[in-house]
Amino acid sequence: MNGMMKAIQKTRREPGLDLVDVPIPSIRPDEVLLKVSATALCGSDVHFYNWDEFAQKRISPPITLGHEFCGEIVEVGSQVLDHRAGDYITADSHIVCGKCDICRMGLQHICQNLKIFGNDVAGSFAQYVAVPQTSIWPLSRDVPAEIGAIMEPLGGATQGVLIEPVTSRSVVIFGDGPIALFAVGVARAAGARKVSLIGKVPSRLEIARRMGAQATYTPEDDPVQQILDETHGIGVDVVIEMAGAPQSVKSAFEVVRKGGRVTTFGLTPKPIEFDLNFAVTLRQVTVRGVAGRHMWDTWKQLDGLLASGRLDPTPVITHRIPLEDCEQGFKWMTTGTRDTGKIVMFPNGMPG
Ligand code: ZN
Repeated sequence: MNGMMKAIQKTRREPGLDLVDVPIPSIRPDEVLLKVSATALCGSDVHFYNWDEFAQKRISPPITLGHEFCGEIVEVGSQVLDHRAGDYITADSHIVCGKCDICRMGLQHICQNLKIFGNDVAGSFAQYVAVPQTSIWPLSRDVPAEIGAIMEPLGGATQGVLIEPVTSRSVVIFGDGPIALFAVGVARAAGARKVSLIGKVPSRLEIARRMGAQATYTPEDDPVQQILDETHGIGVDVVIEMAGAPQSVKSAFEVVRKGGRVTTFGLTPKPIEFDLNFAVTLRQVTVRGVAGRHMWDTWKQLDGLLASGRLDPTPVITHRIPLEDCEQGFKWMTTGTRDTGKIVMFPNGMPG
């Protein structure tokens, strides 16, 4: 498709973002062109907005950001046989080769040749995005665009919680970002015994309670001691670490019971020191690292959770904005009281 479109790009090697007019992407034979209905801001995009050390190593400007999105197919490449114009889809943010040993072992989401929208290839903070057919996940028309746009982070939460069963188990989640808030809903939907969340921002703890958390704590509450007291010093069955703060990683291993499971999901800003003897070996703790979503088991699980009516992620969506307000969205996320859950943008017009 010829023509120009609006996009949010990182154009300069310095903090900030730019709203630019760029050509609509041309697609390869194995890609579709998607008209973006909705696309969501991610905490990982904050690195690019701030232009920190991680960002400087990760991306090469100019690049269109954004990796959480849904929309309608407007054009299909000649090799795309299973999708057609008019189809409503979302996508995994991970673009996989399908050929490496890791992919062939069924672990495509951590492909050896992994690429990510808005990191390695043009992303979805734009009116149109080119999507390889291997990343497509079809959406039912009754899924609102704002939910379609957050399937990717919701999938991260789903794999983080359900990589091992949580039914009837006590679950503690560290972090108050959107994925941690989603994780509360996933754990409740899956029948966890009790779900607690530890976070810092009061308005986000309120969202956690609306998502079903039976207890919320701030670090000032000494949550580790409180939870150990409640469990007669034993600790909880499952801990999901989604804060990525060195202290919360340490606390995660203090609050898990012997033989329990810790999911590590949050990324610490730097390598951290860690007492492996106590944390893992002597207490026989299972550590499950989770990166992204299993393709496509997790997506199927997520479809089922949403269809069951037991998981409603809507309370986490706090802001709905046009593409032009993208930079404002990052300001809300990073400054002031940070009263943001998920921020969803609508590059081709606000809904309704
Ligand atoms: Zn691969």
